[in-house]
Amino acid sequence: MAGESEGPAIGIDLGTTYSCVAVWRNDIVEIIPNDQGNRVTPSYVAFNETERLIGDAAKNVVAFNPTNTVFDAKRLIGRRFHEPLVQKDLMLWPFKVISGSHDKPMIVVTYKGEEKQFAAEEISSMVLTKMKEIAEAYLGSTVKNAVITVPAYFNDSQRRATRDAGIISGFNVLRVIVEPTAAAIAYSLNQKISGEKNVLIFDLGGGTFDVSLLTMVKSTIKVKSTAGDSHLGGEDFDNIMVKYFVEEFKRKNKKDIRDNPRALRRLRTACERAKRNLSFMAHTTIGLDCLYNGIDFESKISRAKFEELNMALFEECIGHVEKCLNDAKMDKKSIHDVVLVGGSTRIPKVQQLLQNFFDGKELCKSIHPDEAVAYGAAVQAAVLTGHGNYEIKDLELWDVTPLSLGLCLVHDKMLVVVPRNTTVPTKKKTQVTTHYDDQTDGNLQVYEGERPRTSDNILLGSFVLSGIPPAPRGIPKINICFDIDADGILTVTAREKKTGKKNSITISNVKGMLSEDEIDRLLEEAERMKLDDEEHKKKFEEMNSLENYVYGTRAMIRKYPSKSLNPEAKKLEGKIKFAIKWLDEHTDEEACLYENMRKELESIWDPIIKKNHRLRLIAFGERFVWRFSVFEILCIIFEAWHVGIIDFQDINSQVNIIHY
Ligand code: AMP
Repeated sequence: MAGESEGPAIGIDLGTTYSCVAVWRNDIVEIIPNDQGNRVTPSYVAFNETERLIGDAAKNVVAFNPTNTVFDAKRLIGRRFHEPLVQKDLMLWPFKVISGSHDKPMIVVTYKGEEKQFAAEEISSMVLTKMKEIAEAYLGSTVKNAVITVPAYFNDSQRRATRDAGIISGFNVLRVIVEPTAAAIAYSLNQKISGEKNVLIFDLGGGTFDVSLLTMVKSTIKVKSTAGDSHLGGEDFDNIMVKYFVEEFKRKNKKDIRDNPRALRRLRTACERAKRNLSFMAHTTIGLDCLYNGIDFESKISRAKFEELNMALFEECIGHVEKCLNDAKMDKKSIHDVVLVGGSTRIPKVQQLLQNFFDGKELCKSIHPDEAVAYGAAVQAAVLTGHGNYEIKDLELWDVTPLSLGLCLVHDKMLVVVPRNTTVPTKKKTQVTTHYDDQTDGNLQVYEGERPRTSDNILLGSFVLSGIPPAPRGIPKINICFDIDADGILTVTAREKKTGKKNSITISNVKGMLSEDEIDRLLEEAERMKLDDEEHKKKFEEMNSLENYVYGTRAMIRKYPSKSLNPEAKKLEGKIKFAIKWLDEHTDEEACLYENMRKELESIWDPIIKKNHRLRLIAFGERFVWRFSVFEILCIIFEAWHVGIIDFQDINSQVNIIHY
């Protein structure tokens, strides 16, 4: 457990489309707004010729730079390139994804003129870094500790990959908790639970869908069962609408816009907006000027049409609710509350289907659908760092395994060691033996899934147990232990029983996950990118400061009638023109070049300006001083000071001259 001295700990909801960060402070949870004042930040990262943008800044440029703006990293994290779901998504993304080592999907972008490849963990780590910066700016201190949430239906490799992303972004990841549990914490604090309550959390977000059944008794929250789809959410509804309008455009104009990523991206953004509108209106319109080859596109869609297009997906959600209840062996009548979480639960049809399924029961909308998960994560972070008050300090969370875990036996048979929906943390033991006489090495393969044949399930990793004493087949006894910690992360160990010695085992070849070395490499790269971003910021500041100086000087020179300028100051106009031309031609130089340039110009120009000021004021004084009131003289001094060229010392000397 991290100590109190380690500073504030935050909770992060790392979403497919948006992320949210919160902190427990002064006995309440505060949702932290970003630099734009928004309480959620787009999970977008954009790369261009000069810089990397994250969050709102990245989403704002997506239409101009679609192939280098990455989103949906959560849909790729912990997955293999050749999985059918990944292949399906590839068709819709404007950015390129290729297969890396161990079939790991790698996102390809052009950054600073060079082709770069990033793993989904790296993109997620960039989003997490942004959330860290948002929290640090708000709290005014560095933030090291964080609780990060994942969908309940994320498998072991997706959870590990998310934790890796947190480590790469420089966090001490206190715990990875599941989103519905985090939402349940928010609900329990909101409702002040008394007695025992069965609560169903229905969490439909941008890219994932989770349904969880929990039992709450005071401050103990126990997950009974979970179901869902880590690949179902608002973006699928957007995609269906995009397809619908692509067809309409084709029908009307005999042109297919799918070969134009920018057009596709603009249409997608318009569809997402239309979808949101349809949660409150019966009809909405889409209007896009020059969408494709100069052709404008305008169309209408009704809520009824939107519902018809997506009905199969909406019904799929209800199917998962039924499965979740069946797994927990509970009747729908025993559910006290059905809680809505995630932006897509605002869709009226989703609410209606769910309410009908629960025989007209009122749905609970008392917690904020976009913020509840980060809220719960912040509470958990406070508890884990000892910052919580009496209200939350006894909070206990009991999660379950979303899928069965086991070993591969001969003939492709799956030996289930930890059945799905087992409460974690847990330790489960079993025994295996050798397949042939005098076998001294055993290759143990760990799988996840519900199918009886392991080849139909997901391989999590494998390790070799060596040094088994030679004996006839079936005689050696190897004790196996599956240990799942509170983060839902699994460690498998094997021990040969007869020798009693714990043989060394190495979990190797955990495909799609990162080794310690890889994490170190990515940490270094993340640090390098951070330095890059800082350098870019500094460059911008210096460029701005040079521009301000040049244009400011020009404005001042222009303010004076030409005849009041001394010959040196008159020559400045030409020099300023030259400096402006230089600035136009040098938009991407090192920060120090702008800084040196500004300093050099200041050292030459400032004395000329000062001298001109002085001469002008003397001329003023000589000619009119007897007619000026003290107030007017002060105004002249103020003007000279305000333009920022002469400092206060000079003003005093000016005053002296006038008096003289
Ligand atoms: P979350 O992952 O919980 O942040 O949810 C984001 C998803 O919610 C995105 O797909 C949004 O388009 C969707 N969303 C947000 N507001 C609405 C709304 N009013 N109606 C329909 N979908 C919405």
